[in-house]
Amino acid sequence: MKVTIVGCSGSFPGPDSPASCYLIEADGFKLLLDLGNGSLGALQRHISPYEVDAICLSHLHADHCLDLCSYHVVRTYGPGAPYPTLPVYAPADAPARLSAAYGMPDEPGLETAFDFLPLAPGSFEIGPFTLTAGLVNHPVEAYGFRVTGGGRCVAYSGDTGESSELVKLATGADLLLCEASFVEGPDLPADLHLTGRQAARHAAEAGVDRLVLTHLVPWNDQATVLEEAMGGGFGGPIELARSGAVYDLA
Ligand SMILES: [Zn+2]
Ligand SMILES: [Zn+2]
Repeated sequence: MKVTIVGCSGSFPGPDSPASCYLIEADGFKLLLDLGNGSLGALQRHISPYEVDAICLSHLHADHCLDLCSYHVVRTYGPGAPYPTLPVYAPADAPARLSAAYGMPDEPGLETAFDFLPLAPGSFEIGPFTLTAGLVNHPVEAYGFRVTGGGRCVAYSGDTGESSELVKLATGADLLLCEASFVEGPDLPADLHLTGRQAARHAAEAGVDRLVLTHLVPWNDQATVLEEAMGGGFGGPIELARSGAVYDLA
C-alpha cells in the first residue's frame, strides 16, 4: 500500500499545499480520500486525473469536497470523454450539495459523471481495499476512515474533535493521518478539531506505528503544532504532513 499526501492544508488551501486529499494505492487501484479545494491540480503531479478508481469524501465542508465540481469537467469534457461514472462514497447530501455548488440542476446534476454512494458507519470493499467508515465529532455528518489492503492499514481522522471512534478506526494502524488544526489555548470549542497533543494521545491509545499530523491550518505556527504533539504521550515517530510526501507501507 502506498499513501501519497496530495493536500494537507486545513480549512483552506495554503501557499504550499491544497486542502485535504490523500491518494491510497494498491494493486494498481487508486483511491482518493477527500478532494478539497485546490487538490485536483496537485493530484496531477502524481497520477493522471483519468486514473482515479474511486473517491471517498469524509464530509461536505468545502476543504474536503469542492474539487469534485472541477473533476466533473475533467471526466465529462476531457479527451476521450465521457468516462465511465466513478464511484463516490460520501454523505447522502453530496449529489444535491455539490450540484448546487457547480450551478447545475439537482437532476441529473453531477451524477452524469459520478455514481454517488451514501456513506454509513461500517465496512465495505473498494477494489483491493476494505474501508471502514466511522462517525467522528464535527458539526456536520463527518467520517473517519480505516483502509486496509495487502496486510497494511492507514487510518484518516477527517475533521474531528476528540473521538473514541477515531481510536477504534486507527487501532493498530501502520499510519495515522490525524488532523491537528488547533494550537492549544483557552476556550477551544469542543467537537470541532484537535490539537497536536490530542492527536498524539489518540495515536497512543490506538497503538499506531506512525503519526502524521495533517489538516494544518496556514495561520498556525506548525513548529508549535509539532511540539505540542511531541508532548502527547505517543512513543512512535511524529511528523507534519507535507504535500507530495509518500509513505510506502509495503
Ligand atoms: Zn476541514
Ligand atoms: Zn470540516
